[in-house]
Amino acid sequence: MEHREIAPGVKIPVLGLGTWGIGGRQIEDHRWDEEQVTAIRMAIELGLTHIDTAEYYGAGHAEELVGEAAAPYDRSSLFVTTKVWRTNLRSRDFLNSVKQSLRRLKMDYVDLLLVHWPNPEVPLRETMTALERCAKEGYTRLIGVSNFSWELMLEAQGYLRDSQLVANQVEYSLVDQKPKVSLLPYMQQEGTTLIAYSPLGKGSLSRPGNRVLDEVAERYQKSRAQVALNWLIAQENVVAIPKSSNPVHLLDLVGAVGWRLRLEDALTLSDAFI
Ligand code: NDP
Repeated sequence: MEHREIAPGVKIPVLGLGTWGIGGRQIEDHRWDEEQVTAIRMAIELGLTHIDTAEYYGAGHAEELVGEAAAPYDRSSLFVTTKVWRTNLRSRDFLNSVKQSLRRLKMDYVDLLLVHWPNPEVPLRETMTALERCAKEGYTRLIGVSNFSWELMLEAQGYLRDSQLVANQVEYSLVDQKPKVSLLPYMQQEGTTLIAYSPLGKGSLSRPGNRVLDEVAERYQKSRAQVALNWLIAQENVVAIPKSSNPVHLLDLVGAVGWRLRLEDALTLSDAFI
């Protein structure tokens, strides 16, 4: 697995594991718990040791399954991210929320704590102060945001006294290239990490249909999903968190690393989806 530095001395794999849909969506679903735990462990064994979850996923059940899957592993070998939902951004709610996440994860700390979505109804200063407090109290090693524009990131950073936002998790893939316009250049300049969510276009990029993607995949003898992920991780400061709970798909995903698309092919792919 290839790694990227997310903070001084802290490296994360360029491919992590998403968990939206694991353990339910808006409500918890316990029907596939055993399979899901097995899949998360398989991902860890394959090197997808950055696990992305959130209190919102499966109404907390995704965090419980991540905690169960992670239990046999040395905690320091994993990089666990969770997120605080937009209705919990007031100071008191925020801290309570993080404590509940840690309880479900059965962990003393997460590696990265993100504000899941901005909420204009809550003063950003208050949220950032609460986020920084979580780092100071040891609930998280690193802090960041999700679904923030570059302007909002800049404003948010201004409210932090002694910490840096190290990451912004946003939708980024061949089918959604908006971050290329101004967010990614800003983050590359600042040296922060863009964590690309829905990097497979919610699965659509793994299916045939785009002539250029089909042709590039054929020529490189790679799957469409591997090409789509390689297009992302070849870019400076970008890591991706595809979701899969299918063992065959997980094996496929790791084939996205260890090689590089030629620049002209990456550019042709970019144009093919605009
Ligand atoms: P992805 O783009 O990762 O696509 C996931 C879909 O692709 C699943 O249906 C999966 O099915 C399928 N898939 C995965 N690998 C393969 C493969 N090799 N071949 C064929 N199909 C494959 O979508 P997500 O929206 O789930 O995004 C990933 C993660 O990003 C989320 O799980 C979540 O952690 C995070 N996220 C964050 C958001 C935010 O607001 N911060 C918003 C949305 C997502 P299967 O399981 O059967 O393999």
